[in-house]
Amino acid sequence: MALLSIVLPSYNEEGNIKNTAEVLSSLLKKNNIEYELVFVDDGSVDGTYELINEAAAKDPNVKGISFSRNFGKEASIFAGLSVATGDAVIVMDCDLQHPAEIIPEMYSLWQQGYEVVEGIKSSRGKEGLFHKMAAGIFYSVMSGLIKMDMKSTSDYKLLDRKVVNVLLSLPEKRTFFRALSFWVGFKTAKVDYEVQERKYGKTKWNFTSLMRYAINNATSFSTLPLQIVTFLGWLLLIFSLILGVQTLVKYFCGTAAEGFPTVILLVLLIGGIIMISLGIIGHYLARIYEEVKGRPKYIIRTHTDNIKGNL
Ligand code: UDP
Ligand code: MG
Repeated sequence: MALLSIVLPSYNEEGNIKNTAEVLSSLLKKNNIEYELVFVDDGSVDGTYELINEAAAKDPNVKGISFSRNFGKEASIFAGLSVATGDAVIVMDCDLQHPAEIIPEMYSLWQQGYEVVEGIKSSRGKEGLFHKMAAGIFYSVMSGLIKMDMKSTSDYKLLDRKVVNVLLSLPEKRTFFRALSFWVGFKTAKVDYEVQERKYGKTKWNFTSLMRYAINNATSFSTLPLQIVTFLGWLLLIFSLILGVQTLVKYFCGTAAEGFPTVILLVLLIGGIIMISLGIIGHYLARIYEEVKGRPKYIIRTHTDNIKGNL
């Protein structure tokens, strides 16, 4: 029988582990799906790992690994994928905001031959207006950049073993799971779900972390910002041609160009554009630097006893 792995990134989720493990176990048992739960403790500072260990001691289907520090959700997802042994792997949040009830549907789509089953948010749940707007802008920009419709996608997905192996073989260190699962292709189905409310604990995101996430992901998938630099250059050139002609005409007509304000404005404008351009190039340079260093995505501190071998 096929084995289904469920990967659950968990960062300071001590309130959720026990409940999530129980809810998932009973649901999967009820549906006669052979399963394993892979909790990834992303360097939590609360009792998350202790609770994972407890759950693993009680239920051999529960496994867990723990990072040496917080490496972020992307790293947790990829660590979970590499530990999972299932023929299909589901990635979902361990706060159950991704409703477990659609797992049987995802599973049966997989049995019908779909290799990627995307969870699609039919509503974004309870989010502030600002958050909704920012997310809206981010996803339309991203969809344009990577030429795939990313709106309403989430990290809630089922992946076939083939797809997991492809994802694990990608050499890049800075990943964007949500878009990569589009990028790899394969036969894809979609399942709609409503984002649930968080039962325990609170969200790990704030404004700055979301902004950083958005910029990093946009630049990891597109070099369009670099072309904006070229575009700004052209714009400035055209502008300077017009201004140049005007200045010369005025010079030959005997009315000298008005001096100082123009010069100040031009210096500021050009300075600003150059700085922004350098910043954009610098950002890509930093990304290349990080990739070239080739450090691992995460470092595993320990794991539950039921995981065999070296990680
Ligand atoms: N998470 C993680 N590492 C982090 C931040 C979050 O593994 O550095 C996990 C978190 O435990 C949760 C999931 O990612 O299972 C989604 O996080 P959260 O619920 O805080 O985000 P939201 O649902 O509010 O977007
Ligand atoms: Mg959540």
